[in-house]
Order: sequence, then C-alpha cells, then structure tokens
Amino acid sequence: MQELTDLQQAACLLSPQAGRDPDTDIYTKFMMSHSCYDAMPTSSKLVIFDTTLQVKKAFFALVANGVRAAPLWDNKLQCFVGMLTITDFINILHRYYRSPMVQIYELEEHKIETWREVYLQYSLQSLISITPDSSLFDAIYSLLKNKIHRLPVIDPESGNVLHILTHKRILKFLHIFGSMIPKPRFLQKCIRDVEIGTFKHIATVQETATVYEALSIFVERRVSALPVVNKDGKVVALYSRFDVINLAAQKNYNNLNMTMQEALRGRACCIEGVIKCYPHETLETIIDRIAKAEVHRLVMVDEEDVVRGIISLSDLLQALVLTPAGIDALFS
Ligand code: ADP
Ligand code: ADP
Ligand code: AMP
Repeated sequence: MQELTDLQQAACLLSPQAGRDPDTDIYTKFMMSHSCYDAMPTSSKLVIFDTTLQVKKAFFALVANGVRAAPLWDNKLQCFVGMLTITDFINILHRYYRSPMVQIYELEEHKIETWREVYLQYSLQSLISITPDSSLFDAIYSLLKNKIHRLPVIDPESGNVLHILTHKRILKFLHIFGSMIPKPRFLQKCIRDVEIGTFKHIATVQETATVYEALSIFVERRVSALPVVNKDGKVVALYSRFDVINLAAQKNYNNLNMTMQEALRGRACCIEGVIKCYPHETLETIIDRIAKAEVHRLVMVDEEDVVRGIISLSDLLQALVLTPAGIDALFS
C-alpha cells in the first residue's frame, strides 16, 4: 500500500505547475521516461545458484566468476526465491566465527537453503525484482526502499533473469545519457549547501581493529563501507563489503583476528588510496568523480583528512530523483 501511495504522490507532484522551476525534477522525469531495459548492457555475465548448493562453494563461485551477487533458484518451487550477496557472506562469518583455531562448521556444511531458514526469520522473505519495462524511477525506488544493492530484472514472459541492476549502473546511465538534457543549475551548488549525504555518526574502523570488529560494524550499522582511520582520525583506506570477499578468495576467513592493516594489504585488486571529496566542491564535481571512479561512495574529509561524511550513490539517487517527487525512500 505504501508503494502505491508514494508513487501516486510522485505523479501528482510532477504534473505541470505554474511557477515551478523545471530544473527541480529534471532527473526525476529522466528516470521516469527511461526503462530498466534502456540501462541494461547488451551482454553481461550472470551466475545463478541452486538453493541446494553449499554456501562455501557458492561464495567461491562468486569469486571464480568475478560477480558480486547471484539470484537463487529453488528447484522444488521452480522459481527464483532470493539473492546471495557478499552481505550474506559477512552475516554467516559474523554469526558463526569463534576463533582462528575453530573451523566455521556452518560455512563448511550449510547449504544455501539451510542458511536461508536461519536468516530469513530476520530479513527479507522473498525476491525483490523488476520487469524490463518498468521505469528506472521504479527501480531506484525499489533499491532504496528495500535497502538492497542488487535488483534482478526478470522477463515476465519467460521468468528469466536478464540482468542485475545496481545503483552504479543507473548512475552510469544517467552520466552518459543525462548529458543530452540541459544541465540543471543546482549542479553548481557546493555539497556543503545541498546537504546530500550523511554527515553525522559516520561508521569508521581503526586500522588496528580486527576484521571481526569491522564485520560487526557492517552487521550492526548496515553500512556498505567503512572509512579506515588512523589514531589521529585521518582516513587512510576504505574497506567496503565487497572487499570482504577477499577472505573467500584467499581462503583466510578462519582468521578474522587479523588486523585491518593486514586485510587491506591482502586485497587482490583494489583502488589505490581513498576517493574523497571536500565540503566546498560542487555537486557536479562529485557526480563526475563518483561516476568515473565507478565506486559506490565518496568519503568527505576536511583539510586534515579527517572524515566528515559519506556521499553514497543512494544519497545522490534519493536527492536527484526521489526527493523532487516528494518521496523519501532512503530514510523512511
Ligand atoms: P551487497 O551490498 O553485499 O551486495 P545487498 O545490500 O544487496 O548486498 O543485500 C542485503 C541483503 O538483502 C542480503 O541478505 C541479500 O541476500 C538480500 N537481497 C539483496 N538483493 C535482494 C533482492 N533483490 N531480493 C531479495 N533479497 C535481496
Ligand atoms: P560494489 O560495486 O559492490 O558496490 P564498492 O564500490 O563498494 O563495490 O567497492 C568496489 C571496490 O572499490 C572495493 O575494493 C572498495 O574498497 C573500492 N572503493 C569503493 N569506494 C571507494 C572509495 N571511496 N575510495 C577508495 N576505494 C573505494
Ligand atoms: P549505501 O549503503 O552506501 O547505499 O548507503 C545507504 C545510506 O547509508 C546513505 O545515506 C549513506 O550516506 C549511509 N552510509 C553509508 N556508509 C556509511 C558509513 N560508513 N557511516 C554512516 N553512514 C553511511
């Protein structure tokens, strides 16, 4: 019911109104007039797991195939029932890890379906998906409202998963094709004034903390990445949920007592340094930087490199696309 109300409200707000600045909802209209199909690549890799597969094998398969998530197929029900993402790997490690001397039995033995029986009591019960004809506006709404980062596009005729949409893909589409629409003036405002992002209670992790402590923060705060800080509070690295998959790649998930410094050194391939921004920079600069670097967020710092905020793709899509339609999906 909430969904209908929100989207109906959006339609009313966007009807032409005398005196309304056309800049305000330019990106909302852009996303409403393009479909998920428009933003899909012509071809991409898709890996699907049967729910009877062992969880450990599934995470190794994510690594081997270089993908971040996979739809789950239930052979008995003959339909897709959910997703397996790196967040699930984090939740399993965090729930069952004891010490470096004790093997994580549940990771070795559990099937995906066994894990889901335990985990689904506390989280999403069914697959959230979208059809290729749905608008990108609807896709953004679904990603933000459900607080997920992977939205499978399913063909209603065949029931096949065609692609997995992400915030990154949608912003990339906007960055490439949005250049064909007039540039709104608000892009020249500085990020400090538009207040897009999170600037209070930023979840960070000390470089001397253990990986287990970082996983605990991911689980408790439900954030997608942690700026890694030194004893002076200066940001020295970024550890995202994605980086946790290195523990599967290097098979060292049995020692979560290693420090963040060790874990960061062990990352197979990673971005050099931290992609940052400053409060005085314009919204346009921020969008360009995040799109070109192909990262999910920028870390806002002051002149001393002390963390002052996080500007995530979720914040940008909320502010540019949903807020002008009167919808708050991110914080509601
Ligand atoms: P990550 O950022 O690690 O890729 P997500 O934030 O997308 O992970 O996932 C958070 C939780 O929601 C995970 O347990 C994942 O399995 C679940 N999930 C993600 N996408 C979907 C979806 N489309 N439908 C149902 N559950 C999902
Ligand atoms: P995803 O595509 O799963 O959303 P992320 O963008 O969170 O992944 O992370 C992909 C890689 O980019 C990770 O190795 C992460 O550490 C790195 N990364 C993400 N954001 C930043 C940033 N602001 N600065 C430096 N590295 C980053
Ligand atoms: P994300 O999970 O990155 O898509 O972002 C969802 C919301 O969490 C956004 O409002 C972000 O600004 C916020 N966020 C992301 N990372 C952090 C963090 N480390 N600390 C506090 N908030 C964060």
